[in-house]
Amino acid sequence: MSNWQELEHKYFMPTFERIPITLVRGRGARVWDEDGREYLDFVAGWAVNSLGHCHPEVVGAVTEQVKTLIQASNSFYTVPQIRLAELLVKNSCLNKVFFCNSGAEATEGAVKLARRYGKLHLGGAYEIITAKGSFHGRTLAMVSASGQSKFQQPYTPLPAGFINVEYSNIEAIKAATTSKVCAVMLEPVQGEGGVNLPDNNYLATTRAWCDQKGILLILDEIQTGVARTGTLFAYQQYGVEPDIMTLGKGLASGIPIGAILAKDRVSVFAPGEHGSTFGGNPVACAAGYATLKFIIDHDIGGNVKRVGQYFATGLKSLRQKFKFVTEVRGLGLLLAIEFSHDIARQMMTACLDGGLLVNKLKPNALRFMPPLNIGNKEVDEALSILDKVLSSQL
Ligand SMILES: *Cc1c(COP(=O)(O)O)cnc(C)c1O
Repeated sequence: MSNWQELEHKYFMPTFERIPITLVRGRGARVWDEDGREYLDFVAGWAVNSLGHCHPEVVGAVTEQVKTLIQASNSFYTVPQIRLAELLVKNSCLNKVFFCNSGAEATEGAVKLARRYGKLHLGGAYEIITAKGSFHGRTLAMVSASGQSKFQQPYTPLPAGFINVEYSNIEAIKAATTSKVCAVMLEPVQGEGGVNLPDNNYLATTRAWCDQKGILLILDEIQTGVARTGTLFAYQQYGVEPDIMTLGKGLASGIPIGAILAKDRVSVFAPGEHGSTFGGNPVACAAGYATLKFIIDHDIGGNVKRVGQYFATGLKSLRQKFKFVTEVRGLGLLLAIEFSHDIARQMMTACLDGGLLVNKLKPNALRFMPPLNIGNKEVDEALSILDKVLSSQL
């Protein structure tokens, strides 16, 4: 254990099960540890470094903004947040934006917006239906929203008003819909919960059900948004439009940001009803604008589709070759492989030794979420490391 790691144990709350390497530098799809060892990074800050580490466009925009205006309160207009809001609206089906600092704050704010809508238009309905296995963040309310008992059990009693139902099962949503429900909140593809894809018509039938009942559909695109799945937003691949959408993770290439987007009709916050000190911070929004503009102008979504397909095909050949690889799943550059038994930890460690960073998704599954602008060459490199690592299991 290095000096830094000893100090971490001394001073930091032990909330993270850290992997024993200390990263000090990143460039593109690569990072370096304190001993100068290089790794190909298929974790990308947990699906955050959309354009890789320290992309020149992002570094340029942030540097310029840091020299110009770092923070002003939301009592005033500032230019970067308006530019980013306009870019988001012009490239999505939504009309209004609110910025915050993280994913959890975005989903929490989306829930507040839905409750506000419920008070104004649905006779005070306030309950939100969410899916089992979902992940919406770590605040107390979002732990209650996230349908995973491991996040909930340590903190009971939980804030009320969330109903966790089986994912990808429209009947479960229908059964839970009472006059107290104001919204359904879903991830188009469940990220933290296991890279779980919905059945083909799940989102469309949920949309139709929400319309029929007059309740809102919130899509949490914090992980799937900003081209991660091959379109700017995942909803575009499922033929539905949300009433509210949340973004975070990859939006600003690593500068903390979150966003709530809503249709005009649903944008019901009145002055003073929601707020944030740092939300819409000029530096974060400059990074967000540079990231999103680059992604749109360079059709990074198209790259994600092509390279994601190539990567998935490569992973499927590994499944053919190794019987203990039981499944390959995902969309775009959000992919996972599952094993027949709980070997993900040792596989992850072996990948590290081979120079590849991957995420242990579950005891028996690994997740890959590389930068969105990688090419087939990086995928080949990752596949060859994986091939060696899996071979050593035989
Ligand atoms: C990561 C994530 C969040 C929480 O984001 P934080 O920035 O960690 O608060 C919420 N929803 C989804 C779908 C996520 O993947």
